[in-house]
Amino acid sequence: MNSRYFTEEHELFRKSFQEFLQKEVVPHIEKWEKTGTIERFIWKKFGEMGYFGLKYPEQYGGLGLDIFYTVIFLEELQKINSGGFAAAMWAHSYLAMTHVNAEGDEEIKKNYLTPSVEGDKIGCLCISEPFGGSDVAGMKTTAVKKGDKYVINGSKTFITNGVYSDYLVVAAKTNPKAHNKGMSIFIMDRETPGISATKLDKLGWRASDTAEIAFDNVEIPAKNLMGEEGKGFPYIMQHFAFERLIMGINGHARAEFALDYTLNYMSERVAFGKTIDKFQALRHSIADMASEVEMCKEFNYSVADRLGKGEYVVKEASMSKLLSTKIADNVIYQCLQFLGGYGYMEDYPLARMSRDSRLGPIGGGTSEILREVIAKMVIDKKEYKPAAK
Ligand SMILES: Cc1cc2nc3c(=O)[nH]c(=O)nc-3n(C[C@H](O)[C@H](O)[C@H](O)COP(=O)(O)OP(=O)(O)OC[C@H]3O[C@@H](n4cnc5c(N)ncnc54)[C@H](O)[C@@H]3O)c2cc1C
Repeated sequence: MNSRYFTEEHELFRKSFQEFLQKEVVPHIEKWEKTGTIERFIWKKFGEMGYFGLKYPEQYGGLGLDIFYTVIFLEELQKINSGGFAAAMWAHSYLAMTHVNAEGDEEIKKNYLTPSVEGDKIGCLCISEPFGGSDVAGMKTTAVKKGDKYVINGSKTFITNGVYSDYLVVAAKTNPKAHNKGMSIFIMDRETPGISATKLDKLGWRASDTAEIAFDNVEIPAKNLMGEEGKGFPYIMQHFAFERLIMGINGHARAEFALDYTLNYMSERVAFGKTIDKFQALRHSIADMASEVEMCKEFNYSVADRLGKGEYVVKEASMSKLLSTKIADNVIYQCLQFLGGYGYMEDYPLARMSRDSRLGPIGGGTSEILREVIAKMVIDKKEYKPAAK
């Protein structure tokens, strides 16, 4: 236990969440990995247990807990070896719901946040588009105001929970000429006429449904605008800090899981008359990896602490994602190597881990984009400010 950040209550929560995952989730993972469909009952169970409401206000059914409960939620989800299941859960509770909580008005929160906390409605966040994901401001989807409605046209891609979710949080241009100042955020029900989704086949994260989504003259009430018109870009950028830290925390947690599993394997596997954890070449590599993971973890905890206290940690969160996802990829690659041929077999966890981990340096801001952000802050002394309320 890292007592600087985690209390006894945190650790009790960790233990009970671990038990819940082992009992209610792990028995179904292989099936969901094969079908790419997470059955509805587990969403409801997460809701009943309060797991979707950890950080959300009590008035909407949440528990209003500090950020380290979220850290535990993310870490333990990484340790059941289904990046796809974990992604489905955190994309709902921390991508879609973050916008609903931050920008939704009372009516939106009543209609979407409370049912999201309870596990009755699942959300997705639609930002990336087929012709550009990194260049968020360059998006082409439009929302044109007509009387008391907005009409949405365009498409999104690579959307986590994009097929089976009940509602969509969508970024669209309300004033295409104003570039990043002309973007707004909307919420809409899946059943709204004109929305269609196509499921994508992918390398990893196989339990989660990832979709390309088309919007063909989709009419939504004007009151489904979230926050102020034209403020979509700063809203997105502001929440990116949290999303990037989430992906950093996921990185250190899955690397730690890979290391623990591999150390145990190495303590049992015999070659040349001794267990392979006695070979100096492998021991030194383990020492390097354990050091890197520990450093990431400590850094991520400290950034989480600052974010939880309200600091705008955009530089640190970008650094967290950049390095933690890279280290996770390296650790998992190396751990697979230490399992020899077994590492390559689906019966052992490293095969799936190496596929799932590969998304880390791509999703939610690629490593190249993160380097751009960090370079602007470190070299050009650029300061990013949170969106004004
Ligand atoms: C499984 C999965 C789930 C996802 N879930 C979601 C989701 O729920 N919601 C959502 O909105 N998006 C989601 N995404 C999209 C993801 O965020 C984007 O894929 C990512 O931001 C990169 O965008 P792109 O794929 O369009 O790549 P591009 O922007 O086309 O980039 C291609 C390459 O060019 C590089 N590049 C681009 N610009 C620069 C530059 N200025 N300098 C240097 N290099 C550059 C990139 O780093 C990359 O290597 C998901 C993606 C995947 C694969």
